[in-house]
Amino acid sequence: MSTMRAVQIPQHGDSSVLAVANIPKPSPKPNEVLVKVAAAGINFIDTYQRSGLYPQKMPFVVGREGAGEIAEVGANVRDFKVGDRVVFLGPSAYAEYAAVSDDKVAKLPGSLSYEKAAAALLQGMTGWSLVRQAYEVKAGDWVLIHAAAGGMGLLLCQMCKLLGANVVGTTSTEAKAALAKKAGADYVVDYSQGYDGVIQKINELTDNKGVHVVLDGVGAATFDASLKAVRLLGTVISFGNASGAVPPISIMRLAEKNVRLMRPTLFNYITTREDFNKLAGDVLKLVDENKLDVNIYKEYPLEDVKQAHDDLEGRKTTGKLILKL
Ligand code: NDP
Repeated sequence: MSTMRAVQIPQHGDSSVLAVANIPKPSPKPNEVLVKVAAAGINFIDTYQRSGLYPQKMPFVVGREGAGEIAEVGANVRDFKVGDRVVFLGPSAYAEYAAVSDDKVAKLPGSLSYEKAAAALLQGMTGWSLVRQAYEVKAGDWVLIHAAAGGMGLLLCQMCKLLGANVVGTTSTEAKAALAKKAGADYVVDYSQGYDGVIQKINELTDNKGVHVVLDGVGAATFDASLKAVRLLGTVISFGNASGAVPPISIMRLAEKNVRLMRPTLFNYITTREDFNKLAGDVLKLVDENKLDVNIYKEYPLEDVKQAHDDLEGRKTTGKLILKL
């Protein structure tokens, strides 16, 4: 049996459970393609699946997205052939080969690199679904984006500007603020010492009304500030847990301003092949046409996967982290 190198964890835990192992190379099922992975995207969800916040069956190969060349196709696959350059969402992407359902695979447009494609797909699709489906951002809207220099943050700043919104970002350092501004944020507030300054700035900018929508991927730490920052009849989209999961809340808190609160995940927007193809197509087109800039913070060799998770969870990074296979 042929083997491959992969990041397989034996149990949930901190980043010390991450190790490269030799495990059997998968074979594609009838509706799967086998991708020779060139680059895997590192996402916060990988840390949740590693830590057990999102429990997984063990042993578990980490990684939810990657890009590379198709090495084999299952018997029922019609849309792809060996040699196609593709990007995919799937399980077990931190590996030399990944067997992926063919309804979560997209061909790369033009000469888009594997690194850029793996950096763009999951976060790009999430971002586009947040600003087009979860809340339809309109020209002139005021939008608050937390962690505006992160992987999601830099994409969301650009997307909201493309749609004509006024963007307020939050970051924890000057250097991150500069990046968020470069990505289009009109104003950036440092929230590292507390959230009063954020609310004050938003009140100043919006005539004390607040923002139309908050896009909050930070979670526990920012949730209260998000409810304060939103205007009457506004929307809070809580889409992540970078600082921990938001604790249960009383729905009566929403009555103060008739706030719409939503907790979406990308995967519920792409349950069908058509929905995946549409969203992936939209995002890859934006990247290919240079309307969306993908900011790669660093490309880590597979052996440095622990460092990559430490950097992401330690708030050290900006933009997207990539694992090179
Ligand atoms: P980021 O690159 O944004 O990294 C997280 C950032 O959050 C940090 O850089 C940091 O920015 C900020 N942060 C604030 N408090 C903390 C803390 N206590 N610990 C760590 N980071 C903190 O990550 P991603 O772009 O990969 O993901 C952003 C969020 O989007 C995550 O919560 C993720 O789960 C979510 N997500 C959700 C999806 C969905 O389908 N719902 C899909 C994809 C991502 P700063 O230093 O500026 O505060």
